[in-house]
Amino acid sequence: MRPEALNCLFTETDSLEGVGPKLKRPLEKLGLTRIRDLLYHLPDRFVERRAVTDLDDASVGENVIVKLTVREHRSRSGRGPFRVIAEDDAGNILTVTYFGRASYTAKKQLPVGETRWVAGRLDQYGQMLQMVHPEHVSESSAAPVGQLCEAVYPLSEGLTQGRVAGLVQQALKALPELPEWIETGLYDKMKWPAWNEAVREVHRGVHAQARDRLAYDELFANALALMLVRESNRKQSGTPLQGDGSLRAKLKLPFALTGAQARSIREIEGDVAQQAPMLRLLQGDVGAGKTVVALNAMLIAVEAGAQAAMLAPTEILARQHHETLARMLAGTGVEIALLTGRDKGKAREAILMGLVDGSIDIVVGTHAIFQDSVSYRNLALVVIDEQHRFGVGQRLMLARKGRRTPHTLAMTATPIPRTLTLAQYGEMEVSKLDELPPGRQAIDTRVVSVERMGDVVGAIARHIETGQQAYWVCPMVSESENDDLAAAEARYATLKERFGDTVVLVHGQLKPDAKDAGMERFASGEASVLVATTVIEVGVDVPNATLMVIEQAERFGLAQLHQLRGRVGRGSEKSTCLLLRGQQLSETARQRLALMRETQDGFRLAEEDLQLRGGGELLGTRQSGDTPFRIASLEQITKLLPLAHDDARLLIERDGGLAGPRGDAARLLLYLFERDWGVQLLRGG
Ligand code: ADP
Ligand code: MG
Repeated sequence: MRPEALNCLFTETDSLEGVGPKLKRPLEKLGLTRIRDLLYHLPDRFVERRAVTDLDDASVGENVIVKLTVREHRSRSGRGPFRVIAEDDAGNILTVTYFGRASYTAKKQLPVGETRWVAGRLDQYGQMLQMVHPEHVSESSAAPVGQLCEAVYPLSEGLTQGRVAGLVQQALKALPELPEWIETGLYDKMKWPAWNEAVREVHRGVHAQARDRLAYDELFANALALMLVRESNRKQSGTPLQGDGSLRAKLKLPFALTGAQARSIREIEGDVAQQAPMLRLLQGDVGAGKTVVALNAMLIAVEAGAQAAMLAPTEILARQHHETLARMLAGTGVEIALLTGRDKGKAREAILMGLVDGSIDIVVGTHAIFQDSVSYRNLALVVIDEQHRFGVGQRLMLARKGRRTPHTLAMTATPIPRTLTLAQYGEMEVSKLDELPPGRQAIDTRVVSVERMGDVVGAIARHIETGQQAYWVCPMVSESENDDLAAAEARYATLKERFGDTVVLVHGQLKPDAKDAGMERFASGEASVLVATTVIEVGVDVPNATLMVIEQAERFGLAQLHQLRGRVGRGSEKSTCLLLRGQQLSETARQRLALMRETQDGFRLAEEDLQLRGGGELLGTRQSGDTPFRIASLEQITKLLPLAHDDARLLIERDGGLAGPRGDAARLLLYLFERDWGVQLLRGG
């Protein structure tokens, strides 16, 4: 149960004045459903304004607040703008310019002969001073408007800066006082403000200390939750598994294991032989051969007379894993089944029976395999594939089935820098497949300017003529997703015009069935070109797809590009990846794309990406999707995460049950950042 002190923070935003059904949607789009979310909706930057009485003292490009008296309205001629001619106290003339429908508001806001305060950016138009669409206009002559320092918030369609700022201000009124969870020594040393003061300050101006404090809170909450998972795991009782190697000996693999694979299997073998459940992360680039390691782990369980389960993030992946594993298991006598949300009726019943009576040894599936209705005779090992977004803790909770906690092996192909490994997986043991199977062909990667679109389409034509397939990836990362979707659909339309029905489109907003159907058409070879947004990132394995085009490649993170690229180069044919870039690139963007061309080592890409992006971020812009954090920037993670970890460890050592006063405060923090799965573990174990 969430502590009462936090209830006011978790009240829905529609309890605020002015939030009705119309605002609710755009707010939800930004993830702002509760008061708490608004408070943590940090400004991207601030506009600094200067109050001036004489416009002669201001310079073009400056943000100013100035008192003006309106002299004249100049209505639009034809399609031209609407202009308001006004004068400051020193007699300087300023034209306030409005385009489109804004002119209706303008007439009302700036009546001829009246005096108003206006805030906005000073521009030049010919010889004239002008201000286009002022950000604020006062309602009377009395009071100046706008703040001298004003927050600029991330927005979504249907929201304005004023609206968001107003809601944040309302939310700030309900700010409770919370006990301090940061360790006193650190708190004093960093000279951080108290929590509620910090929340106020980050909306008021550039307060690095306050911002750091809130980032630290988030990092600390995460570290603490992950550490609680680990601690509780230590106290759990698992099933010590000792395989005799009999089933593994029956596997007829067409290849020898790499050194890294053999080492990982040995590490897993050592872990599962213990009473305490294993918590291990298997990290290996796309194509590094994680599946066969997972299979060996599961076979240890089966040899020991227990069951194993493999959890995949999507239906398609579950199917593919099942197929691959079943093929490898042929002739071993091991029973393997597939269970997804789609299985219904008799087929499902049969599988459920098999799991209960133990006739099924290994089950592969989506989260359906952990539903309450599914019981196991003796589940002793769980493999979680592609655990590449956060939520490890929750997944681990899911895996708790029955009296004994199964051993857990999480697998990820996302190359993340070492610092982030800690953030995402806490102190899990790590096995690393740092060696690719022999004979892999490098993917020929080229950076091509978008101006050469015609050549690229020509390359696709030649490519599919040989019977091979191609991916065409469009970005889906902009703030207004609709634009991105429209762009992807437009690209699909043009490719379809050229190549006909052999082109399919798959994107995240399709219904799962439609998405799967599109993917299937491509996977079966019926379609030759798959136009997709990044949904293929975690997904299909089509060895015959050997060409990938990525549009606006500069807008993707390196890790993401790397993952995407890993979809080709899976067969024996040489593969190519064309990174289409815009006409104008920043220096960093150029370097990042060059790096993609230079290396195929995911770990190196991850480290260098962090270096390239780490510095120079204004206020620390959040990195969408790359980290489990919404507040902490990469820079803050690098700087503060080690501290947060040490602090979390100390706290757990001193007060593992979080029972003391500081423990109480820390519980609040876990709820505040919705890492309460950490707290729930305290009760269980
Ligand atoms: P990952 O899941 O790590 O991306 P997979 O397990 O799907 O990689 O393996 C990729 C491909 O490499 C598969 O076709 C697999 O059969 C093959 N493979 C795995 N291990 C080896 C090995 N030691 N030698 C040769 N090929 C291997
Ligand atoms: Mg895999």
